[in-house]
Amino acid sequence: MLGVVSVDERRGLSEYFKAREFACRCCGMVLVHPELVRKLEALRHLIGAPVFINSGYRCAGHNKAVGGAERSYHVFGMAADIQVEGADPVKLAEMAEKAGFDGIGVYPEPGFLHVDVRGYPARWEG
Ligand SMILES: [Zn+2]
Ligand SMILES: [Zn+2]
Repeated sequence: MLGVVSVDERRGLSEYFKAREFACRCCGMVLVHPELVRKLEALRHLIGAPVFINSGYRCAGHNKAVGGAERSYHVFGMAADIQVEGADPVKLAEMAEKAGFDGIGVYPEPGFLHVDVRGYPARWEG
């Protein structure tokens, strides 16, 4: 089930994340799957440090502009590219695995992790 969330800066999506953190960088639209938030919350608890969302929801136009895959899970609000200050992406990937993410992509340069809730396991390095 997809949940469309209005962008209200005062309203938290969960304990650690706000809807605007997932908003498309070009238009501010937000679409976020509740399972994505649940697993990010679990990851945040495992890490014990702030998780920065580089890219959450992307509208089709923005996804194309940033060279995302045509059927990218970002377009469905089911993916996030995340960074944790000072954390090694490979270690981060191990924790994402524990948090229960399905798709996990490690991007050592520039150092971020893609996580998604596609419903089946997928692992890659970008
Ligand atoms: Zn957009
Ligand atoms: Zn991604």
